[in-house]
Amino acid sequence: MSGSTPPSARSRPFRRRKRFGQHFLTDAATVERVFAALRLAQGDHVVEIGPGTGALTGRLVEEAAAVTAVEIDNSLAERLRHRFPGARIIAADALRTCWRDLLAAAGDSRIRLVGNLPYNVATRILAQWLDGAERVFDMHFMLQAEVAARLTARPGGKAYGRLSVLAQHRCRVERLFDVPAASFSPPPKVHSAFVRLQVAPAATPCDLETLGHVLRVCFAQRRKKLARALKSLHCDAKALELDPQVRPEELSVGDFVAIANHYREASVPTTRQTVPERPVP
Ligand code: SAM
Repeated sequence: MSGSTPPSARSRPFRRRKRFGQHFLTDAATVERVFAALRLAQGDHVVEIGPGTGALTGRLVEEAAAVTAVEIDNSLAERLRHRFPGARIIAADALRTCWRDLLAAAGDSRIRLVGNLPYNVATRILAQWLDGAERVFDMHFMLQAEVAARLTARPGGKAYGRLSVLAQHRCRVERLFDVPAASFSPPPKVHSAFVRLQVAPAATPCDLETLGHVLRVCFAQRRKKLARALKSLHCDAKALELDPQVRPEELSVGDFVAIANHYREASVPTTRQTVPERPVP
């Protein structure tokens, strides 16, 4: 039996976990481009999703007032805690984290969301944040290029869908630059792109759950006539001033918002109680 003490988590050799989509950014020039795009200010509170081996975390700690990072891999989170004692490193699944509590801890600071997202859960993480975007200033994500194309897609194209509408309803979306697979270790099989989502007040407010439902119904029959989707939603094309002959995939973000608001108004039961009149004594 050896008398030596077991190595601590941080000195143990690191084992990459494929199931967590671990492709670490190793190209210094790409890290520079990311930080040039971020334009961090001293008072910013950065929330990093999936910090991994800390390719971005170190610079974030230097340049922002506060950094909170959520990493699912316990061993990586442990290492990061030792390397960056000034940052708050949470070992948790970003999809199960209560973001509202976490953001409340940031007080009045400007919240910047950053992440080289694990590709297998990137769209779910995005959808979660689009839902809670009101407290966030902006988001910068490294994503699979195909997801970036969906985020920025315009009506009519194949990439245009639910994610495009949800993102563009809440944010101004920009595909900033593409990143070759060789910038990561190990290189992923897909191309990547770095995107910015600048949160902005919606042109027309809309209940997001209703919008999500309308989008699900419409894009399930994206190449059929709009009349069919509107029928399942019990909506009237005429009242909406929409051509029932077009395809759902040709509608603009504003059109979907109008359908969602119309659908909600038509389906919300009237809450006003009818009080029975008292008989005159
Ligand atoms: N930010 C690092 C970089 O740029 O080198 C790592 C990026 S790597 C593509 C994705 C990271 O997200 C990994 O560290 C992985 O363990 C972590 N991750 C995967 N799924 C996660 C989840 N559901 N919640 C939080 N972190 C997750």
